[in-house]
Formats: sequence, C-alpha cells, structure tokens
Amino acid sequence: MKVAKFGGSSLASGEQLKKVFEIVVSDPERKVVVVSAPGKRNSDDIKVTDLLIEAAEQQLRGDDGALLIEDVISRYASIAEELNLSGTVIEEIREDLHTLLHADKSKPKRYVDALKASGEDNNAKLVSAYFQSRGVEAQYMDPRKAGLIVTDVDGYTQVLPESYERLYALREEPGIVIFPGFFGYTLEGDVLTFSRSGSDITGSILANGVKADLYENFTDVDAVYAVNPNVVPNPKGIRELTYREMRELSYAGFSVFHDEALIPAFRAGIPVHIQNTNNPTAQGTRIVSTRDNTNGPVIGIASDKGFCSIYINKYLMNREVGFGRKLLHILEDYGVSYEHAPSGIDDVTIILRQDQMGEEVEVKIVSRIKQELQADQVIVEHNLALIMVVGEGMRHNVGTTARASKALADAKVNIEMINQGSSEVSMMFGVKGHSEETAIQALYHEFF
Ligand code: ASP
Repeated sequence: MKVAKFGGSSLASGEQLKKVFEIVVSDPERKVVVVSAPGKRNSDDIKVTDLLIEAAEQQLRGDDGALLIEDVISRYASIAEELNLSGTVIEEIREDLHTLLHADKSKPKRYVDALKASGEDNNAKLVSAYFQSRGVEAQYMDPRKAGLIVTDVDGYTQVLPESYERLYALREEPGIVIFPGFFGYTLEGDVLTFSRSGSDITGSILANGVKADLYENFTDVDAVYAVNPNVVPNPKGIRELTYREMRELSYAGFSVFHDEALIPAFRAGIPVHIQNTNNPTAQGTRIVSTRDNTNGPVIGIASDKGFCSIYINKYLMNREVGFGRKLLHILEDYGVSYEHAPSGIDDVTIILRQDQMGEEVEVKIVSRIKQELQADQVIVEHNLALIMVVGEGMRHNVGTTARASKALADAKVNIEMINQGSSEVSMMFGVKGHSEETAIQALYHEFF
C-alpha cells in the first residue's frame, strides 16, 4: 500500500488534476492520496493558502475579506469547469468559505487556522468529486473522522501519538481515500494547521498510520538536487539519500520536502520517494534508512541566510561549573532558541536565527551576559549564512574538511566558523551573507 501526496502546483489547474488522476489510477497500490490546496499556476500567481490567510487577516482587522474569498472560489470554479464537474461541489465550497469567514473570532489564531486549512479541505472534496466523475471509487476523508488529532506546543502543531492507531483503519475504507493535507483537529475539535508546506507532514503521518510500504511525494521537480539550481545551473540530481542527510539538507534551505515531515516516515522505516507530477517517469529521489556510499563523501550542499552569532569569551570558562546553563537560561528568558554552539576552552559561539532577536532584545541579552556571567568579551555578528556540506560518506573519507576549506580559500571566502563536532553526516561553515553564493559554487565544483 502506498500513500501519495500531491503538492499545490500539482493541483493548480484542471490540466494538473488530470495528471494526478492518471498517476493515481496507474498503480492500484496507491490507496491514500493527500492533497495540498491549489498552488501557483505560474510564477506571478498567488497560492490559495495565501489568499485565505490574507482574507482572514483582513476580517480580523475589521476590513472585508469577502473579495479575496471570491478569488478563492473562482480558483476552484475554474478547475471544476475545466474538468466538467457539476456546480454542486462549488456551491458547497462557497457555503463553507462564507461560514468560516463569518465564524467566531474570539480566538484569532484558531480563526485563521480554520480558514487556512479550508484550502486543502475543499480541494480534497473537489479532487474526490473529480475521481468519482471519472468512474473511480474515491471518497473525501474528514481528518476528524479519521482521527488525525493534534495539539499545539508553543504555537507549534504536533500530532498526538494515538492518531497513528486510529489512522490504521483507513486501510479498510473502500476505494481511494482523498485526504486533505496541512491540518488536524485538537481534542476539543478545533482545526490546527502545521507550518507552511505542511501537507508533506500529513502524508508522512498517514504513511506511518496505515503502515504503508512507500510514501510518494509528488512535486514539480525531477529530483532533489545536490545544490540549489538557482545558484548552480543544472546541478546533479540525487537518486538516493538517507533520512539523516535529508534532514540536514532541508534544515538549511532545501525546500523540496518539509523537514518535520521526515520523522513519522523515519520512525516507521517507510521510504519516501520524491517524484515529479509533470514527469512521472523520471527516477526521482528516494529517502531511505541506509544507502551505499559509493558516490564520494558529499551528497548535497545546502545553505541558509539570516543567522547571527553571539561570541562569548571568558578566561577559564572551561572550569566554571554551570556557565553553559546560565548562558542558555538568559536566551530562554527571551524565548530565543539556538541552532549551534561551537566552543573552545575559553569561548563559545551561539548561533541563532536572527529574526528571533530584535535590537532591543539583543541589547538586553548582551548586557546580561556581560553582567551576570562576567564575560570578558561579547561580540554579536549579523547576516551570516550557514552552509551545510552533507554526506554519510564524509566521516570515513580522509581530507573532506581540507578539500572544503581549500575550495573556500581559493574562492576568497572567509570562513567565520566551522562546526563538525557532533553531526556524523555534515560539516557546517558559517560565512558572511554576501559570500554565500560564491561559497556554494566553490564547494559544488570541488565535490561534484
Ligand atoms: N497549502 C499549504 C501551504 O502553502 C500547505 C501545503 O501546500 O503543503 O503552505
């Protein structure tokens, strides 16, 4: 049994839905189909999810979001028209959207989430109506009925473990199950969405729940590429990579597959196959537990901007019991999480995402570190890019760090920091934001 998830660009028009239909019915093992909301039809287009968020925000501001809701309805209507579907499904969608738009706003986040989730929910209804119109046994599945129960911890939606057992029953449903991605229900019955692009997460949860043999993730590229194609033209596609490698790459900007989506599939040992709806015969990329390391040390190079570092130096820091705890406690007081913490004998650098720390908070954090920890030096650096060089083979290949550093040196990129301490599969370089592209190109040419 397979779970197949289709992203927004695969469902943006009637023509795309026809491709989805052909893919699903070409393999009888494709039992559960997870759908996103209609995405962009071209690069200037707007995703239905973005229209819904804007409509919800307008209503909350006291403006009228109804015009945007009309735009959303016309997106579904044009798909339905292209597919010669009857008007009833669009009437149902219209009614649902108007009810949600005028729903209770006393919990604004819940209100926004309910409208946001309707993008996928209504699309699942539309897709199942289309499959039925083609004479295939298919049904829309309500995540509440199926038992996809979630909770929010610090504003972050997570699946409750009991969901998995309940979802197992989907195996017994007749025909193809069309399941909306991106959200679940709390025990109280409220809708909660995952973070953006979260339909990948739903697909992975369902794959785990029904104990699928394969989780297929259909998107609009032929493969996960070894490096961002906007930085290096025509990069090598990756055929196979491990969960750990994918985790490291998607952490640093590989957006083909949501980083939170790996966990449920990984826990159940279900391979993930990333494929192209527009070119389903392309090999795609498989994410698996283990692979042969025959392709050299590095499988991919990823990078992400928007980091800053706090460098702290104090003589004899290594002997001071509790220094690290006190330091991290200060960050915790401001709700700031850190990404990495490379350290030396008398110094430590805390690397964090810059958008968490406004100017005011930064001043407070720095002055508390100086006063409470009696640090000799505290220096904050902004606009750093982190570059992750990833590959299971790295640990066993002599000289990978040397090759990477030499490539950066030859390209005249100054390395602000290196972190290769704990991760078995990656090496991290911090460079100034403006050197990011040069660094990536230099590393790609070295390793590929
Ligand atoms: N439609 C949602 C988003 O754009 C979720 C998804 O497509 O996976 O973020």
